[in-house]
Formats: sequence, structure tokens, C-alpha cells
Amino acid sequence: MRVVVHSIGEVKEDEEGKIGVELLCVVKAVLKKIKRRVLVGDKVLVGGIDWNDKRGMIENVYQRDSEIMDPPVANVDHLLVLFSLGQPKMEAFALTRFLIEAESTGIPLTLALNKCELVDEKTRLVWESRLRGWGYEPVFCSVDTRNGLDSLYFILRDQTTVLVGPSGVGKSSLINVLRSSQQVSDASEGDNQSVNIEGSKWLEEQRVGVVSVKSGRGKHTTRHVSLLPISGGGYLADTPGFSQPTLLKATKVSLPQLFPEIRKMIGDSGPTTCSFNDCLHVGERGCVVTADWERYPYYLQLLDEIKTREEFQ
Ligand code: GDP
Ligand code: ZN
Repeated sequence: MRVVVHSIGEVKEDEEGKIGVELLCVVKAVLKKIKRRVLVGDKVLVGGIDWNDKRGMIENVYQRDSEIMDPPVANVDHLLVLFSLGQPKMEAFALTRFLIEAESTGIPLTLALNKCELVDEKTRLVWESRLRGWGYEPVFCSVDTRNGLDSLYFILRDQTTVLVGPSGVGKSSLINVLRSSQQVSDASEGDNQSVNIEGSKWLEEQRVGVVSVKSGRGKHTTRHVSLLPISGGGYLADTPGFSQPTLLKATKVSLPQLFPEIRKMIGDSGPTTCSFNDCLHVGERGCVVTADWERYPYYLQLLDEIKTREEFQ
């Protein structure tokens, strides 16, 4: 595992250059024994560092603030949901499924709409007001013309972000653009001492799959996830996240909370709550959630889907 040194505790003057140095680390046996899996994005304690050989040992893993499994990344603090305004065309229900899946992680999200150079101003404005009605403030961008990328840089700053969205919307293209303009860290060669330094470190991981026995040709499958530093601070996972929402994290009880429109009706306006605690907002007596909003039919459809799934579980 490759670990980028993030901080080294009490920094002495001659050690300043060590921030940003990448170390090849093994995981301490005791962590493996208790099946403590180390993920990309984990903050880890590294000991037994040999700065000359750039090697060390992961001795402990700090508690995670969040984690996602596709791709496996810990301490994600931001999801960037990417859709495209044209090719493939935006579809409101498909977008809703993605937003609900992203909301169900509990990680804050930003919605960005790519390929905006493919549509006229009027189409863009119609989507903008529609999405505002849903409770989102979309960022319009174009990887091709570089329009709007400045706003994205600003939003990604100082956060660890995973990009999600359906295939074909430009996720890989966006990652490549951000990668090519990333700041190259000025890693120093370090000195010859072998030292033990405590502190939190950022982690990168590269995993190589099993040789395919069947083909016998030694074909490797490589799974690689790493965090790209972004200029201005922050990291972006170099592998996009889910491209098909499963909605498995959502339950019929949690679903209403995943719609900003419902959150607003229930929470923001004071002590307005439905009469029943387990209200599903489908016309119960004393329900404060009205039906006069655009995505209400989508809410009902997803509620049905989740209820059916829960009945068969
Ligand atoms: P992914 O499946 O989400 O990773 O999408 P890709 O990054 O592979 O992009 C799919 C296609 O969209 C490629 O042919 C890209 O060149 C193209 N593409 C990406 N961004 C833009 C854009 O801003 N405008 C246009 N017109 N095409 C784009
Ligand atoms: Zn209700």
C-alpha cells in the first residue's frame, strides 16, 4: 500500500520536506488478524519509517467519518453527481434515482451537469429552475469547452470527493482534466535516518487481482483506486463510483428524508410534523406533505419499489 505522509506530528525544521512523501507500507500483522481492512482514504498511523527506502508499516487505522464501497474509499466527504445535458440526454426520473442513491449515503453532494455546450441557453435555464425546485443548485459545465470547471475546482477544494453518475456523461473525461491540472507535490528525498514518527497519514492503495488460472496466460486484472490531489487542496478518487443506483440503502422509512422537498416541508417551517410518526406521506390523516410538487409521483414510485423489495426480504 502506498501512503502519502500527511502530517508528522511535531514537525522539526529538517523534516518539513517529508510531508507529501509517498511510502510503501505493509500492514501490521495484528491489524490483519482482527480483519481491520485498510481502505484508500483511511487515515493511518505509520511507524518504523525508513525515509531512505521510503518504507513503513501501518500500525493503526483511525476511525472513519464515512466510507463507500463502490469504489472502496474511506473518509469521503463529498459526492459529485455528474449528468449530461445532451448525449445521453437528461432524464428526470433517472436523475432522481441517482440523487436518492447519493443522498442515502449521508455524504453531502453537488450536482453538476456536463456537456452544456450541446444545448441552448433556454434548455439550460429550464433545467436550472426545475432543479432548484427539487432543492438543488446545479453547476453547469463542459469538459470540452472547460466552461464551469472553475466552479468545480472551488467546490472540490479541501474535500475528498468521489464522482458518480451514469456511463457516458463524462466522468472519466472530467477526472482526466482534473488530473492533468493537478499540482505536482514537491517530494523531497528525505534523509538517511530511520525514524519513528507518529501522526495521521493519507493512504493510497493499489491492489492486483489473481492470475487467471483458466486462461493460463498470466493475464492480470488490476484494480486500482487512488486519490488524486487537486490544486487548491482536496482529493478526487481516480475511479468513478456507482453508475447504477440500487437504492439498497434506502428504506421506506428513510426515503422521505432523501427528498429535499419533503425535508423542507417537514423540518424547516417549525413544528409542522405529520400526525403519525411513521407517516409515509401518501395521504394519511394529518399529513403535512402536500402532493403539489414535481417529483411527488417519483416519490410514490420509489416508495412502491422499496416496499416491494422489503416485503420479499
Ligand atoms: P463516463 O462513462 O461518464 O466516464 O464518460 P466519458 O468520460 O467516457 O465520456 C463519454 C463521451 O462523452 C466521450 O466521447 C467524451 O469525449 C464525451 N464528453 C465528455 N465531456 C464532454 C463535453 O463536455 N461535451 C461533449 N460534447 N462531449 C463530452
Ligand atoms: Zn406525512
